Amino acid sequence: MKNITIVGGGLVGSLAAFYLARRGYNIKVYERRPDLRKTDISAGKSINLVISHRGFTALEKVGLKEEMEKITVPAYGRMTHDTEGNQNFYPYSIHGKAIHSVSRGGLNAALMSKAEEFDNVEFFFDEKCESVDLENATCVFRNYKTGEATTVTSDLVIGADGAFSAVRAEMVKQPRFNYSQEYISAGYKEIHIPAAADGSPQLDLKALHIWPRKEFMLMGLANLDNGFTGTIFGPWEGENSFETVQTEEQVEAYFKKFYPDAIPLIPDYKEQYLNNPASALVIVRCDPWKYKNKVMLVGDAAHAIVPFYGEGMNCGFEDIFVFDNLLDEFGDQDMGNVLDKYSKQRQPNGNAIADLSLRNFIEMRDLVADPNFILRKKIEGKIYKDHPEQWMPLYSQVKFTNIQYADALATAHKQDEIMAEVLAMPDIENKWDDPKIAEFVLNKI
Ligand SMILES: Cc1cc2nc3c(=O)[nH]c(=O)nc-3n(C[C@H](O)[C@H](O)[C@H](O)COP(=O)(O)OP(=O)(O)OC[C@H]3O[C@@H](n4cnc5c(N)ncnc54)[C@H](O)[C@@H]3O)c2cc1C
Repeated sequence: MKNITIVGGGLVGSLAAFYLARRGYNIKVYERRPDLRKTDISAGKSINLVISHRGFTALEKVGLKEEMEKITVPAYGRMTHDTEGNQNFYPYSIHGKAIHSVSRGGLNAALMSKAEEFDNVEFFFDEKCESVDLENATCVFRNYKTGEATTVTSDLVIGADGAFSAVRAEMVKQPRFNYSQEYISAGYKEIHIPAAADGSPQLDLKALHIWPRKEFMLMGLANLDNGFTGTIFGPWEGENSFETVQTEEQVEAYFKKFYPDAIPLIPDYKEQYLNNPASALVIVRCDPWKYKNKVMLVGDAAHAIVPFYGEGMNCGFEDIFVFDNLLDEFGDQDMGNVLDKYSKQRQPNGNAIADLSLRNFIEMRDLVADPNFILRKKIEGKIYKDHPEQWMPLYSQVKFTNIQYADALATAHKQDEIMAEVLAMPDIENKWDDPKIAEFVLNKI
């Protein structure tokens, strides 16, 4: 194998280019959009996003972790804001571990530039993939500026072209290719929370901020300039939805009622709310993630998930890490075998993180303000601290380890059952740290 075509120069496609260039392949990356390092375009989707352990593991393997970590802001826990403006901090980890906020455009640009340092990598911009001949690993791209079509044949095509992948669209036509796409009933809208006039942060930088309001929430994630990107996640229709909060008066009433302490932080919140678009959230599942020895899917092209665990990109980076490990183990003589193993290993994990992410939406918008949930976190934290080999909270498994997502999900079901029994015990709020509770729990595992 010599030549690889990567369709899509987003976060995952750019990392794939770096990884595979190291192996000496000739890499051509075709990206539909202009070069985001040269134009003032948004990098799409959210302005910033969370990179955590799995993402860093993938960066570390190829020596990029340290450099990329420098452009992140760590968050050590959730800061919840109630409607009275009270704030409560809940650490993510009893070991002081953090998740890291990073600019999407900044990270994407940095990865592209790192990949381009290899002589055997070329990026082509404004090139939209129009069709793929799977059997021959041939793609046709159309240049937005010139209108010209280019046909490219290589040994392997990597579909890294996101949730609405053109590569996957060809695979869908194959017999026995499974595919589903589902929009959830919530969407999102971003609102910028600037730094104060003197440049200092208006919110605690070390936390991810949440205003949980059951059916909807506001979330704030720090940027390097001491500002925060706020995101309202809420229903498209019905009470307190994007459909019903539409006028200046309605926006003011909505903020005054639900996010009163955010108002002084965002002088132009009404303009932003009215002018910034609301975007949809989609879940895509498919199987298999490859075609023979010729084509593979990575990142959102294989598994678009809702963003509530902040794992979409992390999972995509893990795809590349796992593929590279398979190349280490099996070489590239029999790519059909490697792609088969890649697909079989990753697909159940893609499904699991899709489920886990939906589950975390409920936790973030709703449960974080629920006393029972907070009590459960305390109990789990105590057991984890005293018996780390036997019990690890789900959040830690997902965010701070490389445990397979499918295994984490299976453990979570078991943990839910046990914790339901514990929380039903009389007077549990006063005896939650009694060693007998831990003993009961550990006996159930
Ligand atoms: C609101 C929101 C918040 C999120 N927060 C997080 C988070 O905190 N942490 C996290 O890990 N994940 C998060 N995600 C998920 C994350 O954004 C995605 O998982 C990640 O962007 C996937 O990267 P990708 O490269 O696979 O796809 P994309 O980022 O979608 O990149 C695909 C690229 O392919 C290009 N392309 C598309 N079609 C074609 C074509 N036909 N021809 C050529 N090029 C094409 C696109 O222009 C794009 O550059 C969030 C998502 C959303 C919506």
